[in-house]
Amino acid sequence: MQISPSVRAVQVPDDKPMHPGGTNIYLVGKGQALTIDSGEAMDHYKWMLRGYLAAVERSEIALAAITHHHADHSGNLKWANSIFNAEVIVHKRAVPLLKGKLPKKEHVRFLEDGDHIDMGGGVKPRVIFAPGHSVDSISYYLEDEGVLFTGDTLLGSSTTTVNDLGSYRQSLKILVDLPNLKVICPGHGAIVNDPRERLQGLIAHREMRERQILQVLDDGRPRTSWEIMEAVYPGLDKRLKRAATGNVETHIRQLEQEGRLLLHPGRARKPNPAKVQQEVEHAKYVDGVIKQARKLEDERRRAELRTQESPRSAAWARQPRYELVGRAKD
Ligand SMILES: [Zn+2]
Repeated sequence: MQISPSVRAVQVPDDKPMHPGGTNIYLVGKGQALTIDSGEAMDHYKWMLRGYLAAVERSEIALAAITHHHADHSGNLKWANSIFNAEVIVHKRAVPLLKGKLPKKEHVRFLEDGDHIDMGGGVKPRVIFAPGHSVDSISYYLEDEGVLFTGDTLLGSSTTTVNDLGSYRQSLKILVDLPNLKVICPGHGAIVNDPRERLQGLIAHREMRERQILQVLDDGRPRTSWEIMEAVYPGLDKRLKRAATGNVETHIRQLEQEGRLLLHPGRARKPNPAKVQQEVEHAKYVDGVIKQARKLEDERRRAELRTQESPRSAAWARQPRYELVGRAKD
């Protein structure tokens, strides 16, 4: 889908309840393109991107960038490097979090806040450090076209999870003030065509959640984060309850840091070593079965290919032969 003169979106369907509207991969620039995020290390992301390139695009992937280190954004960096020979570009803060996901050092470029990625033809997305969803979250801004790539800092069809609320609120304030802002390309969900309103809405939304939490606790009774979540989010989809509790906890951490909440410390349950061992063994067993199945599948595919290389001798004790009529030698 064309977003602006030099930006296209590849919207990949995805079945996670956290990602209504799917996961997005963006292409920036012509001829030699930049990808911003490239999905999880699963076949359907790779095939969707390759399918899009084959069917719609006339460019090649020269650079592969990410908005943050999470696996649903960074899973295909090595693959992009090996298939398209793309140079991988990452923010310095992401590097320690990307263990095993980066290609060799000579294929990686490191970014800092304020850097521009020059794609030629005046297309130069700028890097904006915007932590909060994760410690290494960055946005890319193409000011001439007014296109902002937010990764998971702002989502198109749902609210995101926040790791550090204080820095998250600051990041939103930086983004809402960007000049010429016209459209937000989020990491998941629909394209956002009213970017300022949405950013302002998010800032207000966080203020509202904080007020709600304070209200729940106003009767003076101590509560767990789960209990606060149930009061603040009545009727929430069950699959989102843990994530919502995470959100409540980010507010709690900020309120605690500000000295507005009193913490009654909990006590961790002692792990049962036998049970832990059992779980480890089971996980190993499952991994082994999956590995073995993949190996067998691979072998079968290779065997099928190999049969093309030689005559059908297995089916015939003696194979039929052909000669020209009337040319028989005596
Ligand atoms: Zn994500």
